[in-house]
Amino acid sequence: MEQYLYGIDLGGTTTKFGFFTIDGELIEKFAIKTDLSSNGANILSDIAVNINNHLVKNQLTKSNIKGIGIGVPGPVTNGIANKCVNLGWENVNVKEQLTNLIHIKIEVSNDANIAGLGELWKGGGTGYQNLVFITLGTGVGGAIIVNNHVIDGVVGAAGEIGHAPTLNLDFKCNCGKYGCLETVASATGVVNIANKFINETTIPSNLREKSDLTAKMIFDAAKQEDQLAAKVVEVFGKNIGFVCATIGVVTNPEVFIFGGGVANAGDIIINTVKKYFKKYAFLGIKDTAFKLAELGNDAGIYGAAYLVKNEGTL
Ligand SMILES: [Zn+2]
Repeated sequence: MEQYLYGIDLGGTTTKFGFFTIDGELIEKFAIKTDLSSNGANILSDIAVNINNHLVKNQLTKSNIKGIGIGVPGPVTNGIANKCVNLGWENVNVKEQLTNLIHIKIEVSNDANIAGLGELWKGGGTGYQNLVFITLGTGVGGAIIVNNHVIDGVVGAAGEIGHAPTLNLDFKCNCGKYGCLETVASATGVVNIANKFINETTIPSNLREKSDLTAKMIFDAAKQEDQLAAKVVEVFGKNIGFVCATIGVVTNPEVFIFGGGVANAGDIIINTVKKYFKKYAFLGIKDTAFKLAELGNDAGIYGAAYLVKNEGTL
């Protein structure tokens, strides 16, 4: 009998579904709006209904499905989503509730972890078993993968690289702490650094005339050798390189993979981070590879499917 996997990336706006072969070929993807009413009380039943409808449409039965992996936007331990602010969830036992609704094997992890697993399986990390995935978006997230398994930690905080301490203590993080990586490496963080240089220095820059600065504008200017933008990129790369040097002696990965909107700036990210990593890293790990993610917004559905393929009793 043909066997398939579902990978679900549950976000605060949309819930994305991927339907895969066991070997990770994406057959079909679709998305629904995430229902945030009643503190997200309908989210899991909506997922169950959509999976059931998809099975019927494709003339499949539950025995054709080896499992459903799902990534949620918040820390997860033992299948329980501890707190997902974007969904209105607190201590939701996703694994148990979804299993009861659909009677198919369920595995749960957080959104950054599944994106990392997706890159490991079919993206920039293909061929590696030990990688650190760092997503540079509105915030900064991450996944630590050792021997093809995500490290969750006691409260699901392993891989929360956005809150790793850096050398730069100028900006306050949403978590309340000063100096988190997110304050200098997220899209907002890059703008933070630029505004500081604009206000506190006389370094010439075309960015001074721009209103509503974005990270993309700053990286584009740096590529055009704008002096101030180049300094911003150095601060950004220095702090990420520093954090990677620390992570490097903790888990000793084969590769660091960078995804998220900010990473769309491309090689400038890798080159700058690598330069500072080499400066700060222990001699034994200086040759660690640095690569860009390849799956974009589909990383999550791939990784969620891999989660159940890999972790499930298949
Ligand atoms: Zn923080």
